[in-house]
Amino acid sequence: MSISLQLQGILAELPHNVRLVAVSKFHPAADILEAYDVGQRIFGESKVQELCAKYEVLPKDIAWHFIGHLQSNKAKYIVPFVSLIHGVDSLKLLLEIDRQAKKCDRKIAVLLQLHIAQEETKFGFSFGECLDLVASDEFLACRNIEICGLMGMASNTDDELLAIEEFRGLAAFFNDLQASHFSQQESFKELSIGMSEDYLLAIAQGSTMVRIGSKIFGQRN
Ligand SMILES: *Cc1c(COP(=O)(O)O)cnc(C)c1O
Repeated sequence: MSISLQLQGILAELPHNVRLVAVSKFHPAADILEAYDVGQRIFGESKVQELCAKYEVLPKDIAWHFIGHLQSNKAKYIVPFVSLIHGVDSLKLLLEIDRQAKKCDRKIAVLLQLHIAQEETKFGFSFGECLDLVASDEFLACRNIEICGLMGMASNTDDELLAIEEFRGLAAFFNDLQASHFSQQESFKELSIGMSEDYLLAIAQGSTMVRIGSKIFGQRN
């Protein structure tokens, strides 16, 4: 099926409070334009170089989301134009984004990434580490960062019950954190969970942002 038909099918079934990040990593600019022409404006990329190259050649009203693991020393390349950084997984990275954001007089929207999957390889804070972070003086001193919520990835498994449990645990943590630390901050409202294989499960658990790649653009090489 074509990109535009796949995209329209997904958009038609999303609740109005859930936004779609079309994950275009490894797919060419022409594919992004096909989705753009249907009205899609939020695209997700996971490699700094690839994101910068696409930003250069594609329409400037695209909202680019960085969804990958960002190395601190590369933050400077995307901070000037990125709309949302999903995967902030260390204080070091947060401080560097803040520093670079100051330089270009921007406030950067970020999500804190929580490790909820069973795989050791996935990045992110534990719940305890996240609580320590948001209570730390260094965190509170960041002026050019806007914490917009949390992001997570479920285990890569056919076990739907496991994925549901992982999403549910993150959603509960999100609600607690919102009440305990961000009740005065309206911007803390996004729960970025759900990919091609599990986004309906994630939406049922409270996702506000789904990151869907292969279901729209096909398999990646
Ligand atoms: C690649 C990627 C996605 C999209 O995965 P699909 O299974 O193709 O939908 C979502 N989130 C992150 C963090 C990714 O790296």
